[in-house]
Order: sequence, then C-alpha cells, then structure tokens
Amino acid sequence: MKSIQNNCFHTLNTIQLPDRDAALLPEIDTICRFYSDLWNHNRPGSDVWNINHSCGTYVNVSHETIQLLTLSEQYRTITDGAFNILAATVKHLIQRNKNTSSHEFTQLVEKLSREHILIDGNRVLCPPWGVIDFGSIAKGYVCDRINEFLTAKGVKSAMVNLGGNISALGCRGDGSDWKIGIRDPFSDRKTSLCALKVRNRSVVTSGMYERALSFHGRPVHHIIDPSTGLPCVSDFSSVTVVSESSVDSDAYSTAITVMGRKRAEVFIQKNDIDVFCMTSDRTIFYTDNLHPIFFES
Ligand code: ADP
Ligand code: MG
Repeated sequence: MKSIQNNCFHTLNTIQLPDRDAALLPEIDTICRFYSDLWNHNRPGSDVWNINHSCGTYVNVSHETIQLLTLSEQYRTITDGAFNILAATVKHLIQRNKNTSSHEFTQLVEKLSREHILIDGNRVLCPPWGVIDFGSIAKGYVCDRINEFLTAKGVKSAMVNLGGNISALGCRGDGSDWKIGIRDPFSDRKTSLCALKVRNRSVVTSGMYERALSFHGRPVHHIIDPSTGLPCVSDFSSVTVVSESSVDSDAYSTAITVMGRKRAEVFIQKNDIDVFCMTSDRTIFYTDNLHPIFFES
C-alpha cells in the first residue's frame, strides 16, 4: 500500500491505496484541498465564510454547498432536530465569549427550532443570528466523493481516513476484511476496545472524550444539543455508526450522541442504522450486523 497525508479540514487525513493505484493519490489530495478550502469557515471568501457574513441576505454558493445544506436539512428532519447545522452558532458564542450567560444560550433554542437555512436555486439565506460549520458532515461527504472517484477509476481497495472518519473501500489486498479499531472512551491511552470487520463501509465515531471547548472554565463537548442550546450532556461516551454512506455515518454519529440512549434506540431501529455504542456507565451495545472482535484489556 502507498499513502498520502494532509491537514485539510483542520485535522490529519491519511489515504491509502494499493501500489498499482498510487498514481491517483495526488488527485485525491486535490479533492481534499478543494473541499477544505470551500468550507473553511476561517477563510474569507469561502462558501461558509460568505454564509456566516451574509447578515440575513441571500448569497450565491457552489452546487456542492447546496448539496451539503440540502443533506443537512434532511438530517435535521429525520433526527427530529438533534442534527442542526446552525448548532455551530452556540459553539461560536462560546468561543467568542467564554463567560456568556446561560440565558443567552437558552434564547437560541427557540430560534434553532423555528428558523432554518433557506435554499433557492444556488442561493442560500442564513438567519442573521446564525453561524454554520460543516464540521459534523464535511469529512463524511468528502469520503463519499473520494470513494466515488476511486470507484470510477476502477480502484477495488482503499482506506480513507479523514480525521478518524473512516471509509473502507472493498477489502484488503489479500482478500480479507478491513479491521477498524474502536477506541476505548475510558482509556486515556488511546487504546482500542475492539475492532470491527468491514467491507465497503464507512465507520465514524463521535466521542464524548473529544472535549474541544472551554465553557465557564470547564472543558465541554463540541457537540451541541439544539434542544438546550448548550454543549451536549449525553449518556453516551462514544457512538460509532457503520453504513455504506460516510456522510450518513458522520451526521448520525453526531445526532445519536445528542439523542442519548433512550431516544437513540427508537431512532436506530426505525431507520435500520448499525451502531456500536458505549454509555457513560460503560455498557456496550451494538446492532446485530456488527461482529466486534474484543481485545484483552
Ligand atoms: P468531529 O468532526 O470532531 O468528529 P462531529 O462529527 O461530532 O465531530 O461534529 C462536531 C462539529 O459539528 C462541531 O464542531 C460543531 O461545529 C458541529 N455541531 C455541533 N453540534 C451539532 C449538532 N447538534 N448538529 C450538527 N452539527 C453540530
Ligand atoms: Mg459527525
């Protein structure tokens, strides 16, 4: 296997291809850079920057952005609001002022439940109070685009890892399944709890151990619960979603974390979604299609 690495999407990405397909690696790098630039909320002139600076007026965006916003809207509906692309507004408030009062966040709840991004052809209208970022779905979407590109080129086997958002195309060179390690959320040593054997599947984990923000001096999760307007307090320590579509896995792992176990069980069953989850009291549960191989601790 040959691999290429880059730091697109503010994270470390690694793409591995069989030696005979290695000539395609630079093109995959170009795909990553294209989307990373397009959706970089810090880059003036990017689609996301333009949306976030539109002050309640329509802005023109690329068709890829329309596609991702359309998907976001579908995820919001199907998850009954647990997934909300405007939840980034809360993150933005926390980052701007670490001592913002809780009241300000609860005021957002009403807006998050009522107002949404409007799409009209290639134009979008973001509410004036809103901020978006595609952190919860961009990597999944780009994994799918890379797999599409590779499949069209006749590639039969690949491992795409965009910041831990994993997409395994085909099987390994020797014909065996890919094995994807699932991190133990209770180990600070980044050890794997088990491995999932997959072919043509994307495996995406949202972990409560990823505490990316500081709020009133406490580290808090970067996943936001739109129903409280606050960083999510979930009874899940980690949620892994396995599906054919990486963007589905990405969006659902975020949404299921927000839902918490009781609500998630209904959602998973209704929508036939494969998950491997660990709750905060260390209970593990996973759907029948997954056959995890547990490691000795
Ligand atoms: P990571 O990419 O670090 O694995 P996730 O896929 O779980 O993380 O997504 C986290 C990002 O998604 C946050 O940085 C935030 O901007 C955005 N986000 C937070 N809460 C939500 C939510 N409820 N719905 C959609 N996006 C969210
Ligand atoms: Mg996600």
